Amino acid sequence: MLDLLFPTTCVLCGHNGPPLCIECLSGLPPAPDLAPPPGFDAFGALLSYEGETRRLIAAIKFQGHSDAIELPARVLAELVEAPPDVVTWAPTSRQRQRQRGYDQAELIARTVSQSLGCQCLPTLQRNATSGDSTGDHQTGRSRRERLAGASFAFGGSGVGTRGVDPHRLGSVLVVDDIRTTGATLSAAGDTLLEAGATSVSGLTLAVTL
Ligand SMILES: [Zn+2]
Repeated sequence: MLDLLFPTTCVLCGHNGPPLCIECLSGLPPAPDLAPPPGFDAFGALLSYEGETRRLIAAIKFQGHSDAIELPARVLAELVEAPPDVVTWAPTSRQRQRQRGYDQAELIARTVSQSLGCQCLPTLQRNATSGDSTGDHQTGRSRRERLAGASFAFGGSGVGTRGVDPHRLGSVLVVDDIRTTGATLSAAGDTLLEAGATSVSGLTLAVTL
């Protein structure tokens, strides 16, 4: 009967139940308090990227367990003190999206926006870098991104961005999966502020120490 109700198992403990159980989520290491990246009004994060958090995010990003995002994203939304006008996300590269079939940052952003009752809009496109079309390894790519910094364009090539009027953005909450140096969030925030957002704040599922 339980199998019928929950045909899934928790990605961390393996017990029948939701794709991530509350017991496992509450046992994950909490994020330390971090200052907002430059230009941001506020920043919040739920988890510290170590131990079992690494295993959870690997399951979400590399093993297709996108359904394990929902519970932590709902809890993450509770950290937002002032609901923004728009929730958006720092998109992963198109190549990554094609490989996975989804963008985990978008899934987190959509769940957060539902919890907050605000609209979720695609506003950013990740600019192609030299590594984008060569199929280079993820570690090399992310290291290069950390060194060079990701950059974004507002709106971009138009997939799903129709109707986003930059002059009506208002306050924008940028969501991402992991904050490492903060460079990706900063790049996204800069692009949104230049496009006309009145303020930006940030929210990530995890932060590296
Ligand atoms: Zn569990």
